[in-house]
Amino acid sequence: MNATIHATNATANATRVRPCPLCGGLEREVQARRDGWEIVQCARCEMVFLGSALAYDEQAKNHDWVEEHTKELAQRRAKQPVMLFLSRCTRWLRPEPTARLVGQTLRWAHSGRLVDFGCGDGRFLAQARAHFDVTGIELSPQGAEVSRRRTSREKIFEGPVTEVAERDLPAGAFDIVTQFGYIEHEWHPLAGLRAAHRVLKPGGLTILKTPNYASWNRHIRGMNWCGYHVPAHCNYFTPQTLAKILREAGFEPLRRLLADRLPTSDSLWMAARKS
Ligand SMILES: [Zn+2]
Repeated sequence: MNATIHATNATANATRVRPCPLCGGLEREVQARRDGWEIVQCARCEMVFLGSALAYDEQAKNHDWVEEHTKELAQRRAKQPVMLFLSRCTRWLRPEPTARLVGQTLRWAHSGRLVDFGCGDGRFLAQARAHFDVTGIELSPQGAEVSRRRTSREKIFEGPVTEVAERDLPAGAFDIVTQFGYIEHEWHPLAGLRAAHRVLKPGGLTILKTPNYASWNRHIRGMNWCGYHVPAHCNYFTPQTLAKILREAGFEPLRRLLADRLPTSDSLWMAARKS
């Protein structure tokens, strides 16, 4: 196990070997295997990611996130019915997820132009528009359509986030870029962050939420950890690797509140300023 390998042999599912999305390195250690995919850790910068790549059109066509998520839930229901039952029973104790996203955003900013990378079904934007002038980008055609119905037709762009942001959004025009549950799906996360950097005004903010690969729960639950969705999640960040990739893209990560730094949290929250 965990032998260092050189990335020359692709797995069965691989279309091609994927260099480290943070530093471009090819030396990696296999951390886990699932359905023919390898979750690997870069020997140079410690970034954890899927070691082989999937093209965008393939991702949208055969691995639509809405469908993948439904599949994953069905698998989990079959494998861990007790955990799922308990999670449902205690749901009322937890803040409503969309309200939590809005709450996190309002910690850092109260108004301005906001663009949501990977806006999913538009639930967040529908609530955020009470405070911000909102725009969204979504790869999934299904998600984009629902988002349009929930917000406004002309403010939702459909397609690969990085490409759309580069092509359709003006540089230096936004105050905030939110990325909630997006960066773990992005096959080119550095390009995604650079696109966020480009569309932001000087001093603008990006706010991220992604599964926390450093969480205790991930160590305890192994491959049953809720952050694993293969191949939908192709990047697995720790607070260190997320801060590193943000700096690489020209951002300065902001001090995280204690509540956001707990290793018991499966979610990793981070905000960063365009420097
Ligand atoms: Zn690396």
